[in-house]
Amino acid sequence: MNENYVLERLNTLLNIPSPTGNTEKAIEFVEMEFQKLGIPTRKNNKGALIATIKGQNQERETTLSAHVDTLGGMVKEIKSNGRLKITQLGGYVWSTIEGEHVVIETIEEKQYTGTALTTKASSHVHGSEADELKRNMDNMEIRIDERVNSKEDVLSLGINVGDFVYFDPRTTITPSGFIKSRHLDDKAGVVAILAMAKYLVENNITPNYTTNFFISNFEEVGHGASASIPEKTFEFIAVDMAAPGEGQTSDEFSVTICAKDSSGPYDYELRKRLINLAKDQGLNYKIDIYPYYGSDGSAALRAGNDIKVGLIGPGVDASHSFERTHIEAIENTVQLGILYLTK
Ligand SMILES: [Zn+2]
Repeated sequence: MNENYVLERLNTLLNIPSPTGNTEKAIEFVEMEFQKLGIPTRKNNKGALIATIKGQNQERETTLSAHVDTLGGMVKEIKSNGRLKITQLGGYVWSTIEGEHVVIETIEEKQYTGTALTTKASSHVHGSEADELKRNMDNMEIRIDERVNSKEDVLSLGINVGDFVYFDPRTTITPSGFIKSRHLDDKAGVVAILAMAKYLVENNITPNYTTNFFISNFEEVGHGASASIPEKTFEFIAVDMAAPGEGQTSDEFSVTICAKDSSGPYDYELRKRLINLAKDQGLNYKIDIYPYYGSDGSAALRAGNDIKVGLIGPGVDASHSFERTHIEAIENTVQLGILYLTK
């Protein structure tokens, strides 16, 4: 795996805002990357990207997915004090955006910066209430970096209900190989898929079966890969983050092969095959269960596709919060993906 390729692409992609419902620019970036590799792509009506490499067997196909859509916010209400109330895009704990720098993008694509704060942020003004206030939708607001004191002031900026709010990803790559950033879920998976494709192309390797790379754009709201799974797909691997933490086996250095999540167990035979590939090649791998989790694999199954589904991915610490992974976890994921496609 080309480490620089992965880190550069990941850094760029993490900094292209793509909350669920507004993913076009991120999809465009990934599309360009596939095109640079000479891999043809197409889009479905709802904006997901499908890139296809012909296999030795062209009668049956495998599909690997990762999602570019991320968490975010949307203006729910313009308050009379000139602050914004937001609704969540995707599921997260409100305290994880407290203090975050944001960008509000209007429908005319004008951008304003701001900060996510509680409604009682100043300890000099609110004393212990600032600490005790429950972090929820009603108690959080966006302070816009403009001279606004009323709803009319905000409207005159062109900001309206329905405008997207992007959180600063704060992407930092440390000398020790850690990648700290929001939205590693699942941009780390998207870049892992690009790295798999690049490896196949540059080494003139034809995968066993025609292979579709499916970049979905509505995973965080549950219906990402529910449509347009290429018809001949018999096996589907979702490449999405693993969840390390208390009681979990996953870590930030390994690829995790998921046995079960909230949607139920993944295909047993496929899981065994993935484990054997990882074991035989000496990859760092874990087997884990995610208690509160669903994937594009679950979405594809629920949509009625008759496919075997597996789930692999790099461990991302503090997921949907202040996320972090290590380059080694992405590397192990890329290697397992390539083994799966070629062995
Ligand atoms: Zn995800």
